[in-house]
Amino acid sequence: MDYNSHTDAVVRVAVTLVNALTPGEQRGRPFPVPRDLGAAATGALRALRPSYREVTQAEGAQLAEVARRLRTVFTAVADGDLDRAAEQVNVLLAETDARPRLERHDGEPWHLHFHGLGGTMAGDWAAGCATGLAVVLGSEFSDRLGVCTAPHCDRVYVDVSRNGTRRFCSTACQNRVKTAAFRARTRG
Ligand SMILES: [Zn+2]
Repeated sequence: MDYNSHTDAVVRVAVTLVNALTPGEQRGRPFPVPRDLGAAATGALRALRPSYREVTQAEGAQLAEVARRLRTVFTAVADGDLDRAAEQVNVLLAETDARPRLERHDGEPWHLHFHGLGGTMAGDWAAGCATGLAVVLGSEFSDRLGVCTAPHCDRVYVDVSRNGTRRFCSTACQNRVKTAAFRARTRG
């Protein structure tokens, strides 16, 4: 992707939070709300940053609400409704009062963080993820957000491939669809 690596990183966080914390279907199976939202959120964030601190149950519940809101943006883009996606991101930016701030930590160079009101973990991630999605929607890559098109799967993805032809959340779903198509052909 062409945008900067921090934007890339927060968009990946948005994808990961939506996929870990919102109910629906995953790779052909029902995906219920995780019983332990704290553990689910911790696992999601540590998948991207292993040193991330443990998320409490209360924070996990707040992050699940953030994830529910973020999902609507992916759904709108997948429906081809960029207007609705942009509106939803604007509402999130306003609600979270996303404020840019240059920070330098962990040996990284100066980079932009986006904090929300109240200084809570969920508020900060909501502001950061909303800003990341805003950068994507405002760029030539606005159609790179998506919802898996495999049957019985509604996990989301960001397409960072060169040609932008991704349609599935995972290679598992891609293979499921390929196998089903192959079976249909050989049956015919
Ligand atoms: Zn899928």
